[in-house]
Amino acid sequence: MKLVRSVKQMAALTAGYQQQRRRVGVVPTMGALHEGHLSLIRVAREQNDIVIVTIFVNPLQFGPQEDFKRYPRSLTKDRRLAAATGADLVFAPSITEIYPAGFQTGIDVGELVARWEGASRLGHFRGVATVVAILFQLTQPTNAYVGQKDYQQSVVIRRMAADLRFRCRIHVLPTVREADGLAMSSRNASLRPAERRQATVLVQALELARTRIQAGAGDAGPLIDEMRQLISAATSARIDYVAIVHARTLEPQWRLHGALAILVAVWIGRTRLIDNILVDVP
Ligand code: AMP
Repeated sequence: MKLVRSVKQMAALTAGYQQQRRRVGVVPTMGALHEGHLSLIRVAREQNDIVIVTIFVNPLQFGPQEDFKRYPRSLTKDRRLAAATGADLVFAPSITEIYPAGFQTGIDVGELVARWEGASRLGHFRGVATVVAILFQLTQPTNAYVGQKDYQQSVVIRRMAADLRFRCRIHVLPTVREADGLAMSSRNASLRPAERRQATVLVQALELARTRIQAGAGDAGPLIDEMRQLISAATSARIDYVAIVHARTLEPQWRLHGALAILVAVWIGRTRLIDNILVDVP
């Protein structure tokens, strides 16, 4: 498996793959690879000739008070995992390769980023959309693979790729979870043992919502209250938001009807966790 650290070398390889008409599958990540990332790499392996995993902890998508410095980094282990899962190439550029001196362009996706993660983390999606556009430009994917775990991000990346006419199909794959239901995340490693136990309140609240909706609940308001109560019972939990939204527009839905996404963002101690489920109510 190749390790590529320079933009120039990546662009040269991409030109070759294009000339050979290879199907290129790209999995963008910030590293600290876990089973969630590996599930994306496995599907990419099945559907493409060349599988590229990008590893880049993108400073542009972290706020000034966020955990950029603390974010876990483990390139040696990541390379081994990516290779063992079938990747052909890891593209792990430095910050100055992606943002050389003088860099100033940003990509702003519109209303989709006004709420939820976009409201809690100002500038976050500008950072995400900008780096993903650069990575797509450098790798020219036929297919790109992202996780439902970051649901709003998946919707934003789809919009950006469509608006900028990337000829790339975006695949959104299911969230991989720990045995107790906690969504896998590189950030889970920063939970203390007691916090780790309490972190399951996110998935419990989502499962409660699914159960209530399947039983015929019609109004979002009381359901959100009930979810908030369940989460707040955990002593280390501080809710950022609990929302029931339209799965495509991400606008709040007060009637539980149609394609819904149920989103939660909760601080557990010093660690901010997000999770979601999709529910279709015919
Ligand atoms: P990250 O390295 O956290 O930026 O994530 C890179 C990609 O992996 C994103 O598309 C995430 O949505 C996806 N991902 C992260 N965690 C999971 C998970 N538990 N299950 C599935 N995909 C995930």
